[in-house]
Amino acid sequence: MKYRVMASGSEGIRVMMESALTARDRVGVQDFVLLENYTSEAAFIENLRKRFKENLIYTYIGSVLVSVNPYKELEIYTKQHMERYRGVNFYEVSPHIYAISDNSFRAMRTEGRDQCILISGESGAGKTEASKKILQYYAITCPASEKVEAVKDRLLQSNPVLEAFGNAKTLRNDNSSRFGKYMDVQFDFRGAPIGGHILNYLLEKSRVVHQNHGERNFHIFYQLIEGGEEDLLRRLGLERNAQQYQYLVKGNCPKVSSINDKNDWKIVRKAVSVIGFSDDEVEELLNIIASVLHLGNVQFGEDEQNNSQITTETQIKYLARLLGVEGVLLKEALTHKKIIAKGEELVSPLNLEQAAYARDALSKAVYGRTFSWLVSKINESLSYKDPVYPGRKSAAVIGLLDIYGFEVFQNNSFEQFCINYCNEKLQQLFIELTLKSEQEEYEAEGITWEPVQYFNNKIICDLVEEKFKGIISILDEECLRPGDASDLTFLEKLENTLGGHAHFVTHKLADGKTRKVLGREEFRLLHYAGEVNYNVNGFLDKNNDLLFRNLKEVICQSENKILNKVFDRGELSDKKRPETAATQFKNSLAKLMEILMSKEPSYVRCIKPNDAKQSGRFDEVLIRHQVKYLGLMENLRVRRAGFAYRRKYEVFLQRYKSLCPETWPNWNGRLVDGVATLVKHLGYKPEEYKLGRSKIFIRFPKTLFATEDALEI
Ligand code: ATP
Ligand code: MG
Repeated sequence: MKYRVMASGSEGIRVMMESALTARDRVGVQDFVLLENYTSEAAFIENLRKRFKENLIYTYIGSVLVSVNPYKELEIYTKQHMERYRGVNFYEVSPHIYAISDNSFRAMRTEGRDQCILISGESGAGKTEASKKILQYYAITCPASEKVEAVKDRLLQSNPVLEAFGNAKTLRNDNSSRFGKYMDVQFDFRGAPIGGHILNYLLEKSRVVHQNHGERNFHIFYQLIEGGEEDLLRRLGLERNAQQYQYLVKGNCPKVSSINDKNDWKIVRKAVSVIGFSDDEVEELLNIIASVLHLGNVQFGEDEQNNSQITTETQIKYLARLLGVEGVLLKEALTHKKIIAKGEELVSPLNLEQAAYARDALSKAVYGRTFSWLVSKINESLSYKDPVYPGRKSAAVIGLLDIYGFEVFQNNSFEQFCINYCNEKLQQLFIELTLKSEQEEYEAEGITWEPVQYFNNKIICDLVEEKFKGIISILDEECLRPGDASDLTFLEKLENTLGGHAHFVTHKLADGKTRKVLGREEFRLLHYAGEVNYNVNGFLDKNNDLLFRNLKEVICQSENKILNKVFDRGELSDKKRPETAATQFKNSLAKLMEILMSKEPSYVRCIKPNDAKQSGRFDEVLIRHQVKYLGLMENLRVRRAGFAYRRKYEVFLQRYKSLCPETWPNWNGRLVDGVATLVKHLGYKPEEYKLGRSKIFIRFPKTLFATEDALEI
């Protein structure tokens, strides 16, 4: 084992053990940029496979970290590992999520610039685990004080709470995040974490009332039923049996072997108290959760006129008590519809189907808004208040984005449409920032380079979001149009407006020979990551996201303080229609893009190795697909187009000075002259490298490889 002495910022000289670069770590290449055959997807995947077999789950493409989910606990996240990466240059140690974390942290400290780490990948690829590892890294390695410890605790404890309410078991992932999350970690001038702020995106509310086979509702319901104390359950009128609840039986999957609901309940209860929820708040929160379960069990019968009537009085009794509303009013509101026309109130009875629809809409609205309340409550607890200057902001932030990856299911609906649109936006950002920063670096260093051809997906973003003629605009138009507007008229309008667009197809345009004929309710988008067929069924409803007026009125009168906050009476008198779900999402994404654009990005690209959630299985077909739509080959080409490697003069000299008698042990002249002397001694040919203002640029990886090998001898 070699020992190396290196300078590390103001901490002075530290002795580093160079254990990270052992022979095992050199399996394949640590950076895809070093691949000889860098345009070959097969070579790319082979390198991933080789490393994966050795449990080397991390590999770089330049400064992008590619991570393959190991589906087993690896001994690489200990405190010692964290120490190994602390304050050490990216290339000096083997690839790791801690290296990315540390790199962003140091860039923030030295350049004073806000950073963000964008984590992407499909469901089950390891995004949430990665974001948690980054947070843990900061919590453990950043400077501390008593006050900071409390903030660190709250930052870490926000995860179990959000996961309880926002994650669920799906077919793809036992702990799948059903919402998008962006979290700012705020640091003070010493680099200590002092606060945080979370933005949440599009919770999958439909899961509250329906789950596909083999899937579950949000974890919190099962945690409460399994773990809730006897007297708590009695007070809430709940039985310790998930099978009793209509909202929990749809997926026929109450128990999951990898999940211990009873234990998780304790973790969540502790977490909410660390975050600072009062006992009253916890009580009201649980009242709402229990109410949703009771609502699911409300059933209807029919009278002679086919009007619905409630047949389950017990549920109404509990609901009235838990929500603090009048039972009679709630019953009335669940079975009638009230509209105001020309200043007059018209009440009409609902049939069975409509009543069930109203009930489910209420459950979704209550749960969805409670989730938003939860996020704002956590934000309050994480918010930074300078004790001396209350208005003062933190010195800098690192943002973590853990958001749903591209989704293609058998049946794709409004939710997939939004999620995939979000991925188009992120790809757009990636293209802009990667190409732009690459170009800027060459410019800043005075180096000429050849731009790379790439597919610009702006055309698809426009197709979705453009004013007046984008899909969202057309959808909104149909949602607002009184009369016969339906999902099918929406599709028709899409055909009329967008037919002929290079990335939009419906069955009317399909010729039946070369292209699979689409269903009559479907349209296909040719996303940058692949084709997806969307079924328009439910688009209008989900976009409208309306709650019948009389249900809203009842809930607005609730004595539950949380509901009182999230259902504002003002909504009732508001003449303006609320923004549709898609437009809200579009606007929040636009804001997110602005936030991310103002920061310096780092990327973590997560890959799922197999669909069976098993360790050691490397399913090549599945992986090839992800490599493709994560744009990894394109990324690599961009990185290689100009110069494969670049290093600051001081870093380059420090690492290789021992290879040349003139630079060893120290070079006392200008850094650029030292590097020039060194590479001349090493026999670099003029076409192999360029010297910029502060960095050396090396065109071919093999040049650097040879130099690395020389170090080994
Ligand atoms: P989704 O989009 O569904 O939320 P995700 O990308 O956030 O998916 P995770 O929940 O982070 O996926 O990971 C899924 C599971 O894979 C984890 O519960 C864990 O069991 C395993 N896993 C992920 N990353 C790691 C890791 N680095 N080490 C060990 N296991 C991991
Ligand atoms: Mg997740």
